[in-house]
Amino acid sequence: MKKLKLIGPFKNLLPMTGLPLKGALSDNQLVVLHDAGILIAGEHIKEIGSFQELKSKFSDIEIQELQGDHTCLPGFVDAHTHICFGGSRANDYALRNAGKTYLEIAKAGGGIWDTVTQTRKASKSELTKGTVKRANRHLKTGVTTIEVKSGYGLSVEEELKMLYAIKEANASTSADLIATCLAAHILPKDYPGSAEQYLEEISTMLFPKLKSENLTNRVDAFIEESAFSATGIASYFKKAKTMGFDITVHADQFSTGGSKVAVKFNALSADHLEASTQIEIDLLAKSDVIATALPGASIGLGSAFTPARKLLDAGGALAIASDHNPGSAPMGDLLTQATILGAFEKLSNAEVLAGITFRGASALKLSDRGTLEEGMLADFSLFHTPNYQEILYNQGNLKPCVVFKRGEKVFDKHK
Ligand SMILES: [Zn+2]
Repeated sequence: MKKLKLIGPFKNLLPMTGLPLKGALSDNQLVVLHDAGILIAGEHIKEIGSFQELKSKFSDIEIQELQGDHTCLPGFVDAHTHICFGGSRANDYALRNAGKTYLEIAKAGGGIWDTVTQTRKASKSELTKGTVKRANRHLKTGVTTIEVKSGYGLSVEEELKMLYAIKEANASTSADLIATCLAAHILPKDYPGSAEQYLEEISTMLFPKLKSENLTNRVDAFIEESAFSATGIASYFKKAKTMGFDITVHADQFSTGGSKVAVKFNALSADHLEASTQIEIDLLAKSDVIATALPGASIGLGSAFTPARKLLDAGGALAIASDHNPGSAPMGDLLTQATILGAFEKLSNAEVLAGITFRGASALKLSDRGTLEEGMLADFSLFHTPNYQEILYNQGNLKPCVVFKRGEKVFDKHK
């Protein structure tokens, strides 16, 4: 058996434990441990406590004693990304900033369709390579679990290519990649039939493959004027539910409607919500659906943020994800984006950190990560500061110096 490993001491360790899944949080609800240590058994946490006490309690353990002042946080969970893609949309970005709208660019042949064309041109191994590269960049910033959507293939064959690429990328990075099928991203321009026929074809031909090839258990759809309608998606989601898939929705980005569908189908999460009004906010808050804010898309598009403060005050569960994608959210820096959302929406440290840890994990139905306590995965990051408040105060500029994933050190800035 492998030796137990003790890491520490940490000036501050935030286990993110004892906090509710839903509703507003204040910083005095945060548990902050001082001079703490983490005892690791294999991939999991065996015990958290005083470093000195753990050191004397166990003999014959491997000790990694830290020099200097560090703060330890759970590994971040990015519950919404599109990091498997081909090409670049730098031109879209320039056009948008020159005054064209997202929908105008989409109608003129740019937007998502441009990425679909580039992604279809790419080989599976090129897609895998790009996904691994982006995942590893994320990992260095403390993101140890990353959701990755398909949705740039938009045919049975091309969606499968993407999902195989994501599966292969998962085997080639230390981060955990959680795949989602987003074949219902937009109606592909080259599809000869109606939206209804397209969705029928996907659910009949692709859904069984997702199961038999063990590619994903998650089905997503973009509900928007430029994509699929709330009524049009109903039978698609019904079929997905019947087959046992978890549902997630791109909802209320430019117009409302999607969040209602998310609640109706008991989705794990409704993501975006920039256009949600008090009606949608209250509906989501009363439900078990996690509201996922995507500040990277707001920053990329120069548009309003998700009403995160209102969602929390209404009693909702708020996750924060990067939406990293080549079009609307090219930055892909979760910590920076979450701190910016916090500043604009007046979120407490506790609310921002919850959104990128256990509340994000919950949006992915993962109960083995997001907090630091016995039995959880040993996923955590070290920041070079004695005070946890410095992390969000630095607005993403203070990055982790060390990252642990499943009990192993996967990044060390000092080396
Ligand atoms: Zn998205």
